[in-house]
Amino acid sequence: MKRTALAAALLLTSLSRAEAAKLRIVATIPELVDITRRVGGDLVSVDGLARGTEDIHQVVMKPSFVTKLNRADAIVYIGLTVEHAFLPGLLDVARNPAMRPDPDTMNCLGPGCIDCSVGVQTLEKPASLSRAQGELHPQGNPHYNIGANNGPLIARNIAEGLSRVDPAHAADYQKNLKAYLDELEPKIAEWRKMAAPLKGVKAVSYHKDVPYLGAFTGIDFVDTIELKPGVAPTPTHLADLVKKMKEQKVTLIVREQQYDAKTPAWLAEQTGAKVAVIGTMANALPGTETFVKLSETNLKNLLKAVAP
Ligand SMILES: [Zn+2]
Repeated sequence: MKRTALAAALLLTSLSRAEAAKLRIVATIPELVDITRRVGGDLVSVDGLARGTEDIHQVVMKPSFVTKLNRADAIVYIGLTVEHAFLPGLLDVARNPAMRPDPDTMNCLGPGCIDCSVGVQTLEKPASLSRAQGELHPQGNPHYNIGANNGPLIARNIAEGLSRVDPAHAADYQKNLKAYLDELEPKIAEWRKMAAPLKGVKAVSYHKDVPYLGAFTGIDFVDTIELKPGVAPTPTHLADLVKKMKEQKVTLIVREQQYDAKTPAWLAEQTGAKVAVIGTMANALPGTETFVKLSETNLKNLLKAVAP
């Protein structure tokens, strides 16, 4: 009898140990690592891919990414094709049956795909799908992660995804989600108030990655330094831009950290507009390792640039 009891105890120990094994999650960008850690708590271990300082459209695939994806239970990503430079290729070589690229759309396909864009109110959905317009994002502008108001949706999608992959802990993910939202939602309300001086401010950005930031802050983005998405500015375009900025009284130039500082500085000199540097991913700027810190830093930098 004693022996049976011991065997049962051992079995229980090994079961609880198996239960304690964390889910292995990979997230494409740093703020998704942050939010997944908050929602997953100690039930998950989260690895990131992009560092946050690079251009998300040009993240270079590394062999270490393949190893991470091969062993992962799920991949958390922004979606709307923004990770198409690296994610489909990685999913293809990682050969993880839980997450593979759809041969037609190259989107992630399988139970381990956690798409944070589900339910996002997309802006700038293209009327025509012509490459002549630059980078192609058929479902609309994919840079919703810098619209601070999209944080709760991202967190909810992650909670839902983790619950799908690990239904036994669905209640834990819901509990963690609630704790995160209780912290995040009051901050978003506070940021909305803080953003008041930005309302109606005319601005240009380097890349067309700011519509959600514009929707949240009220900044009116009238043009980009890039000729079109993914296409560097030409001298003609820059001359036209100076003219347009003067005519429309543009007072703010938003430089995403990954773009060169020279052209925005030159534009500022020509037009008198002020430059604000923002991050389009967490970790793009020092001290922005979380979604909250990124949103806060971006807002502060914008406010500083428009301060009288
Ligand atoms: Zn883009």
